[in-house]
Amino acid sequence: MRRGIRGGIAVGLFVTAALAQAAGGAAWGYHGTLGPERWGKLSKEYLLCETGKNQSPIDIDRVRVLRTDLRPIQFQYDLPLPLTVVDNGHTIVLPVPEGKWTLSAEGETFSLINVHFHSPSEHTDNGNRYPLEAHFVHRNAKGALAVVGVWFQSGEENPVLTQILRWAPEPPAPRAQSREAQPKGHQERKRVSNETVDLRALLPRSEGFFRYNGSLTTPPCSEGVRWYVMQEPLTASEAQLQRLRALLNENARPVQPLNARRVLE
Ligand SMILES: [Zn+2]
Repeated sequence: MRRGIRGGIAVGLFVTAALAQAAGGAAWGYHGTLGPERWGKLSKEYLLCETGKNQSPIDIDRVRVLRTDLRPIQFQYDLPLPLTVVDNGHTIVLPVPEGKWTLSAEGETFSLINVHFHSPSEHTDNGNRYPLEAHFVHRNAKGALAVVGVWFQSGEENPVLTQILRWAPEPPAPRAQSREAQPKGHQERKRVSNETVDLRALLPRSEGFFRYNGSLTTPPCSEGVRWYVMQEPLTASEAQLQRLRALLNENARPVQPLNARRVLE
């Protein structure tokens, strides 16, 4: 849960019910009794979160990465994306109309369906966590998922993050609102902007990436997800990182055991 706890019991219950409705499944979150350690117990549909052997995120141990001859990923991201920013109660999401932005890798093409963020990073780099990680979720015609992860470290401002933060829906202020003032129904908040963003500014220049087989990092933790984690971190300003940290409220699942898997590069 993201924001309900400090708002008192009434608001907490409201948010719990709202998240369940928004996700179309049992409520889950990142803190307390709805947190990642309990996801597998919250619903039968989330069992893989507890029993899966190919779960994400993972720590990327650069010494143990297997060097291979993987070809660079081809990103077809040049079209400007009309910017809509959604706060779905778990993350900040840019929805992407399917089909115009694509990725080709290992002989297959996937369509970008959304870009969203985690603070701090979910994947760790030799045990080190970055302050922010962007996920580019793609799907192919058979429904298989490929997700690209991009780390951010503190440095120069990122222009696309500036645009996203300009349009990010304001978090509700539970203490300031009476119960009557709460909107009914689910908690998703959305702002449609009059701007477009250049998604290429959210990708590093260098083509290097890590590749492994993993899962969704949120319930239902479905496996069979191809992960591509870009090796070169991008930068965001300290102010951008702080603002995102406040909005995302620690929405990172802890790293999961690698088990029998290998990470390739
Ligand atoms: Zn994610």
